[in-house]
Amino acid sequence: MFAPRKYSRPRRCIFYILAFVICQLFFVFLFIRNGSYDNKAFSHQPLHHESESRKHFLEYREFISKTPQRSEDFYQYNLHLSDSLGVIRKLPLTKHTSCTTRSYNLPPPWQSDVSVVISFHNEARSMLLRTIVSLLRRTPEEYLHELILVDDGSQDVTLLDDLRRWMEEVFGGRMDRLGLILLKNQKRMGLIWSRNKGASLAEGHYVLFLDSHCEVNDGWLEPLLERLELNPQLAVSPLLDPIDPTTLSYRKGNELLKGGFDWSLHFHWLKRQLAKKELPEMAYKSPAFAGGILMMSREWFLQLGSFNSQLKIWGGESIELAIKLWLCGGQIEIVPCSRIGHIFRRLHAFDFPPQLDQQLSPAQETYLHNSKIIAESWLDEYKNMFYALRPVARRIPLDHTYDEMQRLRRERQCQPFEWYLRHVSPELRIHFDELSATGTLRNEDRCLHARQSDSQLILASCYLSDITQWRMLRTSGQLSTQRELCLGVGHRMGITLQPCGRNETTRNSQRWLRLGTHFLHAETHLCLDNPLKERLEMSTCRSHAVSQSFQFALEMDAS
Ligand code: UDP
Ligand code: MN
Repeated sequence: MFAPRKYSRPRRCIFYILAFVICQLFFVFLFIRNGSYDNKAFSHQPLHHESESRKHFLEYREFISKTPQRSEDFYQYNLHLSDSLGVIRKLPLTKHTSCTTRSYNLPPPWQSDVSVVISFHNEARSMLLRTIVSLLRRTPEEYLHELILVDDGSQDVTLLDDLRRWMEEVFGGRMDRLGLILLKNQKRMGLIWSRNKGASLAEGHYVLFLDSHCEVNDGWLEPLLERLELNPQLAVSPLLDPIDPTTLSYRKGNELLKGGFDWSLHFHWLKRQLAKKELPEMAYKSPAFAGGILMMSREWFLQLGSFNSQLKIWGGESIELAIKLWLCGGQIEIVPCSRIGHIFRRLHAFDFPPQLDQQLSPAQETYLHNSKIIAESWLDEYKNMFYALRPVARRIPLDHTYDEMQRLRRERQCQPFEWYLRHVSPELRIHFDELSATGTLRNEDRCLHARQSDSQLILASCYLSDITQWRMLRTSGQLSTQRELCLGVGHRMGITLQPCGRNETTRNSQRWLRLGTHFLHAETHLCLDNPLKERLEMSTCRSHAVSQSFQFALEMDAS
């Protein structure tokens, strides 16, 4: 047996001292780390001098105490956390280090100053303030010409007056040099109208459209200015760093994504392929903007007719601007060395005005209305793709003609949409080339529908707003939904929806051949059949059976 070892007193003392020092060092490390990276840490940086910061802090509490108290659903983010974060916080450095070590070739401020336009509707005071203060603190003063805020009919009626007072108090002399325009729409006009209004009043060389729940990160402006200086018809987006709506943590955005849209004219992130020697931090071309945050020459924006003023409230406006930019001589780039944090909310935090169509929600109808205008003004013959996927859009009334857009296209000698597919968004073209048919799949007066709740296959009214849009793939013979589920035949000839297979075996059970309007299953040699009103089954093919006849909304030309 070993006797327990006894340490002498001085050695024990040294041990305790060392342990204490190590603990202290550990806490200091944690503190420093939290100070700069933990987004929840309240880090109230003085806006002027240390001595004034307490006063400003009290004024900030007073200012936000008037925020209308609503549930979290109202704002769609964590209001209490937003209030407690303070007016500005340190943000992690999310861009590549080479972005901070290099210098930027900037034009002089009098040739390149910026008007920032922020339109907002029912934004929480602390959130709006953090957007504004981060902008004022992190933008070189000489390049910020003015700030234009458009309050789009918010319920918080004293907000603008309180804001003006607060800014004058806190930013003092700087407010004499910065143009500040505060507008209030008594009646809600929507984001599109409000941004156009703001831009029409702007005087800076460039205009930046910003959302009201953003935090601009250090050095956001210089990389954008450098790119814009090279090409006056360029429009740029910063790389958006996502801010989580629940934890408000600020994360690094992905440089390997670009903006795009599908044939329903819904926004999507697309994969960016790096060319040889291209580094992720380099500016890159994008078919559409990263969300709605973008900067471009004010004059060029006006020459392009601003955001299309026929579009209502919210939705599709930055896709429309992207299409007309590309087709009429411009370009779009995303610049990863410029970072702006943005809260991507899971749901809309605002209502859409009631519409006529009972079967569509006001949000759906507004979006379809706007998309229809885009399809009619820019998509040429490809608008059939849009209608095939969104047949309900056909019955949405539009109260204007497209003359204005046609005039713009003529005057600016804009390219046809085909050019966009060829040169800007090969992804959209691939979708087009790969498909042999698309849209709803009709049997008599009903359409084949994959119910979202339980993926059950049924035959339903073709006018359901979420009626399944199918895609018939040319080479694999697969029949797929937009959620990448494929129609297959399984156990006991049961018709099922399965994840679309990539390997040969699954692909074979999902391969369909088309014989006229019949769908012949390649493996079983049976045909898709609808003998009863709502049920589908596989049965022997009969050439004249109406129950076996299915029509797509859109057949592509074989090429
Ligand atoms: N907004 C507005 N009027 C409206 C709807 C939205 O001014 O009728 C503002 C909103 O407050 C935000 C910006 O438009 O600052 C963009 O809206 P949102 O953030 O909901 O769009 P998303 O970022 O989800 O594309
Ligand atoms: Mn937003």
